[in-house]
Amino acid sequence: MDAFRLEIVTPDRKVFADDVVFLAVRGVEGDLGIAAHHVPFVTRLDIAPARITFPDGRVKRVAVSGGFLEVRGDGVTILADAAELPEEIDLDRALRAKERAERDLEKARDLEFKKAELALRRALVRLDVGEDRRSS
Ligand code: ATP
Repeated sequence: MDAFRLEIVTPDRKVFADDVVFLAVRGVEGDLGIAAHHVPFVTRLDIAPARITFPDGRVKRVAVSGGFLEVRGDGVTILADAAELPEEIDLDRALRAKERAERDLEKARDLEFKKAELALRRALVRLDVGEDRRSS
């Protein structure tokens, strides 16, 4: 498989930049798989792990908390609202965020409910991806 350049950036920092052969992400309209020579396009991303496959077959997951995916002729960029590699994730913090969001969900309504729901989803993705450090 041909490789392509993948960069994952947030408004604050560069999270990841390397040559990869496959990227699986969850767009707001569904799951997407990107290989080299994909047609250029832009889509919004959901809160979900991004799954990266390297040329040697290794796989790495990154916690992505929404943002945009841009596929260009010369590479792919994820501009994430927030993104963390497994080894960067503070599991205790994510657990606290999960518990806070669950408490908020019980009493919240409307906009507050939506906010708590999104916070819960970010925490769950971080807890999931953060577990990968055990196996890598
Ligand atoms: P919290 O309530 O713990 O702040 P959050 O979901 O509100 O969580 P975000 O607003 O998505 O946090 O992110 C703010 C910044 O903190 C981002 O830079 C993000 O990468 C980082 N971050 C959030 N949670 C964690 C975590 N558990 N481990 C490491 N970095 C985190």
